[in-house]
Amino acid sequence: MIGQMMQQPLLISSLLRHAERHHSRQEIVSRRVEGDIHRYTFRDLADRSRRLAQALGRLGVEPGSRVATLAWNGYRHLELYYAASGSGAVLHTVNPRLHPDQMEWIITDAADDVLFFDLTFLPLVRELAPRLASVRHFVVMSDRDHLPGDTDEFLAYEDLVGAESGDYRWPTFDENTASSLCYTSGTTGNPKGVLYSHRSTLLHTFAVSLPDSMGLSARDTVMPVVPMFHVNAWGLPYAACMVGAKVVFPGADLDGRSLYELQETEQVTLSASVPTVWQGQLQYAQDHGVRFTALERAVIGGAACPPSMLRRLEQEYGVTVIHGWGMTETSPFGTASVPKPSSEGLTVDERLAVQAKQGRCVFGMDLKIVDDAGNELPWDGSSAGHLHARGPWVLETYYHREDIDPLVDGWFPTGDIATIDADGFMQITDRSKDVIKSGGEWISSIDLENLAMNHPGVAAAACIGVRHRKWDERPLLVVVRTPEADLTAAELLDFFDGRIAKWWLPDDVVFVEALPMGSTGKVLKAPLREQFRDHLTTARTTVPVRPSTP
Ligand code: ADP
Repeated sequence: MIGQMMQQPLLISSLLRHAERHHSRQEIVSRRVEGDIHRYTFRDLADRSRRLAQALGRLGVEPGSRVATLAWNGYRHLELYYAASGSGAVLHTVNPRLHPDQMEWIITDAADDVLFFDLTFLPLVRELAPRLASVRHFVVMSDRDHLPGDTDEFLAYEDLVGAESGDYRWPTFDENTASSLCYTSGTTGNPKGVLYSHRSTLLHTFAVSLPDSMGLSARDTVMPVVPMFHVNAWGLPYAACMVGAKVVFPGADLDGRSLYELQETEQVTLSASVPTVWQGQLQYAQDHGVRFTALERAVIGGAACPPSMLRRLEQEYGVTVIHGWGMTETSPFGTASVPKPSSEGLTVDERLAVQAKQGRCVFGMDLKIVDDAGNELPWDGSSAGHLHARGPWVLETYYHREDIDPLVDGWFPTGDIATIDADGFMQITDRSKDVIKSGGEWISSIDLENLAMNHPGVAAAACIGVRHRKWDERPLLVVVRTPEADLTAAELLDFFDGRIAKWWLPDDVVFVEALPMGSTGKVLKAPLREQFRDHLTTARTTVPVRPSTP
């Protein structure tokens, strides 16, 4: 017997229709690359998105065509999110921090039809354009007045939108239709495309909005600092329309001061970004003795949130931290570390230790940990294994790589190593390629980094496994000191003493000016491993060799 309820496909355009009907006066504020602040409402967003959809049609963009963007977080990018996907095309967000050769590879692999880009990227697009055979139109996301005179080969976004009437009805189609495309950052090998659908996006949007996820509502002012060019800004551009939250887009200025000022003037209640960006904001707040007057929740993910950062935000600034985990292949939202009733009655330290984990699943997402042979491991908080995920917003196959099956028994192996405790809180101990294998035992680089970050003289830390004659690999800590600190390796290792098992103690510490960062704001460990591979076998260590007994 079939149920007798309405068949309404889960389409991205329905989010916009809802926002226009039920939250039409809610604001969207953007800091533009043109240098000013732009404001309008959801009603304006809906109107201009319809015009843009008409313009795409006029440019010959067909259902399934790929519409690429090279853009910061802003209202025009949001219009593209809705116009491209809503009209049946596929929005392909390209990460402008990639090397131009990688961008060329990605745009060619996706066979993008049109490329929209912010003014910032004009020189880059000029260089790239001759190499992008599939792209028929290049559109600068600005008005003609802001374009240099010699850009006749490019269209102006405002010309396109201004020429249309907005008399457009969003088409209805199968909810499994592709909606957007995002490539993994490709730290190993070529990037791989992850193709989201309308259905997966809508279900993911419900999931991120739930109270035990980001807990979004119409009373929130959300600032997605996490870029719209990487995994759909963790779903916030969709969730804002779903719940009717005010949105604040920071544009290209992601330094501590710019973010702080915008956050304060717009009274942002929830902001989301990677730990390195939060670090900049905290540094600014500390240097200027300022407070966050409206901020209630800090969503931190993409890389492990150091417990010291969590503690500062919560205890010094009164901001609740929502530590989340996910990846391009999981849309990205997988888990959030939001307490359960079992956290009541815990000491502050114990509660913070729970929140420092990557968190638990919301309905839809499922996780398991397995050993090397694929046997499921217990949820005891200490058995570490390969983390596998499944759910309706988890990837099944890679775009253009349909010949390869990435799944194992219907689960997606994430490449992360994790524990899961009895309450279902998952904790990442490492990326499988970063785990340090000392004498056949695993040492968690993230634990050692978190501990190092607790020292006031440490601004940033990365722990890597380097060659060792006896134990194959031993941990080496690579540290950036805080500006005023004159910390030595011996002092830092003394700080570790008693806080971890003796055999986990790093064999040495090296100090560097800065850590190599990837295109999504994460530390790149591969070049560090390359640079320091023989550090322990050739260099004289600055600390005596300790009795390591894995
Ligand atoms: P990439 O293309 O580099 O995989 P993603 O943005 O998809 O880019 O990165 C996903 C990976 O980032 C995860 O598999 C995990 O290793 C790491 N990651 C994400 N969030 C966290 C977190 N909260 N703690 C630790 N690692 C995280």
